[in-house]
Amino acid sequence: MSKSKPSKPKVKTAKTATQSTKKTAVSKKSTAKSSQPSLKKATPKPVPKNTPAKAKPPIKKASAATQKPSVTPARKTVPAPVKKASPPVAKKAPAKKIPIKKAPAPVAKKAPLIKKTTPGVSSKAPAAPKATVKTPANKSAAPAPEPKISTTLVVSSTGMPRIASLPSAPPPAPKSTTKKVFSLPSISSDPIAAAKAPVISSEAPIASKSGALFYDSHMHTPLCKHAWGEPEEYAAQAVKAGLKGIIFTCHCPMPDSFWPTVRMSESELDLYVELVKRTAAAYKGKLEVLLGLESEYFPGYEKWLESLHQRANFDYVLGAVHWQSKEYLNKFEVGTIENFRRSYFENLALSAETGLYDCLAHPDLVKNYHPDSWCFAIIKNTVTTVLDRIAKTGVAMELNTSGLNKSYSEMNPGNEMLRMMAERKIPIVIGSDAHKPVRVGEHFVTALNNLSEAGFEHISYFKKRQRIDLKISDVISSIRRATDANA
Ligand SMILES: [Zn+2]
Ligand SMILES: [Zn+2]
Repeated sequence: MSKSKPSKPKVKTAKTATQSTKKTAVSKKSTAKSSQPSLKKATPKPVPKNTPAKAKPPIKKASAATQKPSVTPARKTVPAPVKKASPPVAKKAPAKKIPIKKAPAPVAKKAPLIKKTTPGVSSKAPAAPKATVKTPANKSAAPAPEPKISTTLVVSSTGMPRIASLPSAPPPAPKSTTKKVFSLPSISSDPIAAAKAPVISSEAPIASKSGALFYDSHMHTPLCKHAWGEPEEYAAQAVKAGLKGIIFTCHCPMPDSFWPTVRMSESELDLYVELVKRTAAAYKGKLEVLLGLESEYFPGYEKWLESLHQRANFDYVLGAVHWQSKEYLNKFEVGTIENFRRSYFENLALSAETGLYDCLAHPDLVKNYHPDSWCFAIIKNTVTTVLDRIAKTGVAMELNTSGLNKSYSEMNPGNEMLRMMAERKIPIVIGSDAHKPVRVGEHFVTALNNLSEAGFEHISYFKKRQRIDLKISDVISSIRRATDANA
């Protein structure tokens, strides 16, 4: 898709307006836009630098948001997920019941919980209950339906609201109209350790009895307050999807009440580790279940994160820059839309340079910020520089298949950026970013084919913080073989 996009010079963008306008406008606009759910693809591209108002889509989501959970059926297909599989799970689960108390059920409203439905609906924080609701299924929005974590954590099942990956952002605040000079995130105060050289595991990947060889390296648990289903249900789906293993990477705790509605609290970290262990025990011999963490990168928190990463024996630490938090928007949404996007990539490079991470999640997530004016060509120079910096660190980058379910419907990153990553030999990891069981392993064969076309020959996953590489051709055939075997 990416390719195509550039080509389309859509012009809707004609917005010449100055950015300043935009911002203000934004809030409103969003409303307007909201109406267009379908946007994503249609996105116009080449927007002149300032894409003014139109862009403000982020907001749209809101509409959906409000609505909620009822949604379940959300997307079209949600094949009856888990159920079948789940059965097994349930049983096992009993093994330990971990009382997951906390889950503050009622999520804060604003919290953009997201649920993205397809059409990009994001929930904006502030109100805007948009009337438009088109979005079919999911709309759950804001107040997210809390994932029910049963105390026992036994099955939840099915009815999960749609997911989507992160909550979409709060509405972009209409900030100052004036454009400020965008200041790049300076390297934060503490430069942590220098980039570490990636460690390549000496472990030879061996296919399981069913022929499975590959891992889904990105998925969540209800502890993040916007994911549904018991961890065992995710495991069950992974087996069906022909995978050999999964790595849970739930949203890490953060201090200072940093966007608390989409993550586990610090006191739940041990519970999270227990949940993953419980699932690993239940699936022993059938699926390898590893412990990871989606670790929020935000300038200034490096030391805290460095310490956090030492608090458990993580197999994989996935760095993530999320532009949707109010903290992020307050700090970086200060110039034009293009500058906001550039700053996102700057932060991505900074995250790699901290040496804290094995891999960088959904590297072009920011294309969901005003998705209808997203134009890769405009920021390509920035991305080029950023990828050069990332390549020097040895950190891997993720191909996140859940991008297909976001406002700008395309995997993250898009194919053009993937080609640029392949040219730089940046290791690549695939993750579904599942927030509900049925998404585990979703679109993996498509993703692997995209990688081949982009120039990659290998795909990676991590275990004990060491990278393991596999040939893409072997992985594709393993998924087919294991899927048939486990069908
Ligand atoms: Zn994320
Ligand atoms: Zn995630």
